[in-house]
Amino acid sequence: MKQQEQRGDSQTPNPRRGNPVMGILWGVLIVLLLNGLIFPSFAPGRIVGTDYGTFIERVNEGVVKSVVIKSGQIYYTIEESKGKTTTCQTGAIDDPQLVNRLLEAHSPNENGRISFNEVVPEENSPILNFLLMWVLPGLLFYMLWRQVGKGIQARMGAGGNFMSFGNSGAKIYAESEVKTTFADVAGQDEAKEALSEIVDFLHSPGKYAEIGASLPKGALLVGPPGTGKTLIARAIAGEAKVPFFAISGSEFVQMFVGMGAAKVRDLFRQANEKAPCIIFIDEIDAIGKRRDAGFGGNDEREQTLNQLLTEMDGFDGRKGVVILAATNRPESLDKALLRPGRFDRRIQMELPDLEGRKAILRVHLAKVRHESVDLDLVAQATAGSSGAELSNIVNEAALRAVRLGRKSVVTADLEESVETVIAGAQRKNKALAADEKRTVAYHEIGHALVAALQTQSAPVHKITIIPRTSGALGYTMQIDEGDRQLMSREELFNRIVTLTGGRSAEEIVCHTVTTGASNDIEQATKLARAMVTRFGMSDKYDMMGLETVDNPYLSEDRSLTCSSVTAADVDREVLDLVKRAHVKARGLVSDHLEIMHEAAEYLIRRETITGEEFMRIVRKYVSLPSSDTKA
Ligand code: ADP
Ligand code: MG
Ligand code: ZN
Repeated sequence: MKQQEQRGDSQTPNPRRGNPVMGILWGVLIVLLLNGLIFPSFAPGRIVGTDYGTFIERVNEGVVKSVVIKSGQIYYTIEESKGKTTTCQTGAIDDPQLVNRLLEAHSPNENGRISFNEVVPEENSPILNFLLMWVLPGLLFYMLWRQVGKGIQARMGAGGNFMSFGNSGAKIYAESEVKTTFADVAGQDEAKEALSEIVDFLHSPGKYAEIGASLPKGALLVGPPGTGKTLIARAIAGEAKVPFFAISGSEFVQMFVGMGAAKVRDLFRQANEKAPCIIFIDEIDAIGKRRDAGFGGNDEREQTLNQLLTEMDGFDGRKGVVILAATNRPESLDKALLRPGRFDRRIQMELPDLEGRKAILRVHLAKVRHESVDLDLVAQATAGSSGAELSNIVNEAALRAVRLGRKSVVTADLEESVETVIAGAQRKNKALAADEKRTVAYHEIGHALVAALQTQSAPVHKITIIPRTSGALGYTMQIDEGDRQLMSREELFNRIVTLTGGRSAEEIVCHTVTTGASNDIEQATKLARAMVTRFGMSDKYDMMGLETVDNPYLSEDRSLTCSSVTAADVDREVLDLVKRAHVKARGLVSDHLEIMHEAAEYLIRRETITGEEFMRIVRKYVSLPSSDTKA
C-alpha cells in the first residue's frame, strides 16, 4: 500500500550528501600512490638475490632465459633443469659489454637466444607532471577549504560571513511527469476551483494572451499543516502536464552564503527555459519572513528574499510560468511578497469538514483492501483531524489488519487506529490497581453522564479505561453531529461543564481528587478564557476584544491587548465561569448517582463500552428529550 505521497521537494538533490568530486579526487590520489608502490609485475613468486659475477657466470653457462633491466636492477630468469625456472635479481653495473655478452650467450629458449630488454622507468608526460605537482594539490586544498568553510558555516548559522564561491552549485531538477492529479486531493473543492483556472492557463496560455489578460503570477497556499498544500501543488502540475520545479524554502537558507540568491536566479532561469511550467516554493516562510526583524536580521535570508522579489517582477507573466508557494504561517510573511503582481492570489486550505473527511478517507481507503467500512462513523470520530492525519489513520488500520491476520480492513481497525493516533497505543500490560481503576471509571462516566444529560452536548461514542501510551488512563470519545461552524454561548459553557464532569465524579463518589483531571483543567480554562477575551461572552466585557491570536495555524500563540489591570480581572471572570460550570456538573452527578454506579460497574467489568450501551443505562433512569441521538 502506498503510504504518504512523496513530498514535492524529493527531486532536488540533497546538498548534504557526500561530495562526489571529493570522492573522485581521493580515488585518483590512492591509485597514484599505489601505482608507485607496486613493484615489477613481471616478477612473480620468490626473487633470489645474486651478485653480478654469478649473473655473468649463469649467462656464460647458457641457462639464462630472459633478462629485464629496470631502474638500476637486473631481473633474470634461469632454467636449472627442464621446466623449473627461478627469477633472480642483481644490481646493474655500468657494463658496456653486457649487450654483447647477452647476444653471444646460449639460452635454453627455443631460438637459443636470451630475450632481453630494458624497462625504462615511465617518465610522466610534462602535462601530467604539471597536473600532479601543481593542480592536484591546489584542487585538494580548495576542496578542503570548502569543506571546512561549510562546517564553520553550519556552526555559525546562516548569518555567518564566510568566504563565498561564485557558482551556486545548486541544480534544480524539474519533474516532467507528475502523476498526482486533483482526484488525489479530496475535499478542498474551493481550492481546486480557484486553481483550475491556473491549470487552464498553463494548458493554453495563448487564449489569455489574445485578450491581453495576464494571470496572477503567483498563488499562495495557506493553511494548517497536513491539509494537502504540497499535495495540491503537485496535482496542479499533474493536471496541467507541465514541468514542476519544487524547492523548499529552507533549502535556500541552509546553503552557503550568497547561494540562496544565486539559486533563486538559477531557478527562474531554468523555469523560463522550460515554460510553461510551475515553480513551487514549499514552506516559503523560511525565506519570506518579514524583514523588519531588527536585531539578528538575517542578511542571507533577506538577500534571497530580495532576489525572489526581483525575479518575480522581472519575468513576463504571459509566458506561462506560475509560481506557487505554501506556508502555514501567512501572518509572518513580508508584505512585499503579498502585494499585487507577486503572490496576489491567496488560496485557503482549511481542515476538512465532515464531508471532506469522508472524501479524504475514501481516497486513502481506495489504496487498501477494505470491506463494509462505516465511513460516517470514522469521519465523525475524527473531527478536527487533518488530511495527513486521516491518511495516517487509514495506514495504521491497514497495519492493524495485517497484525491480526486479516485480509482486509474493517471498521474496527479504523476505530482503533483513530484512538491510536489521538491517544496513543493501548498499554495492555500496564494494569491499573483496583482502586485506581474504580476512580478512572467514575471519572470517565462522570464526563459521559454530564455530556448526555445536557441535551446540547455531543453524545458520547465510546468510553474506555484501557491505559494509552500517551499517558491517558481512560477517555470518553465524543462525537460531533456534523460540523458546527458556530458555537453558542450555552454550548461552549456546556462543554466546560462536561470537562469538569470527571473531577466532579471523583469528588462526589470517591471523595478524593486526582491528577487525572489535569488535561480537563487545561482545556476548560482555555475555553473559558477564549469566551471572555475573544468571543465577547462575558457580561462584564461585552464585545471588547482582549486578546489576539498571532499564529492561528500552528501554536495559537495569544497576546493580550488589554492593560494588566484588566488582565487580572479577566482571570477572575475566567475563574467565575469555570466555577459555575463545576457547580453545575457536581449537581448533575449527585442527582444521578444510581446511573453513575451502574455504568461505572459495567465499565470496570468491560473496560470499554460503547455509547449505545451507556445510553441504555442512562435511559433506564431518565427520559432524555431527544431520543434520536446517534450514540
Ligand atoms: P501540507 O503541505 O499542507 O502540510 P501535505 O500536502 O504534505 O500537507 O499532506 C500530507 C499528506 O496528507 C498528503 O501526502 C496526503 O496523503 C494527505 N492529505 C492531506 N490532505 C489531503 C486531501 N485533501 N486529500 C487527500 N489526501 C490528503
Ligand atoms: Mg507541505
Ligand atoms: Zn477527564
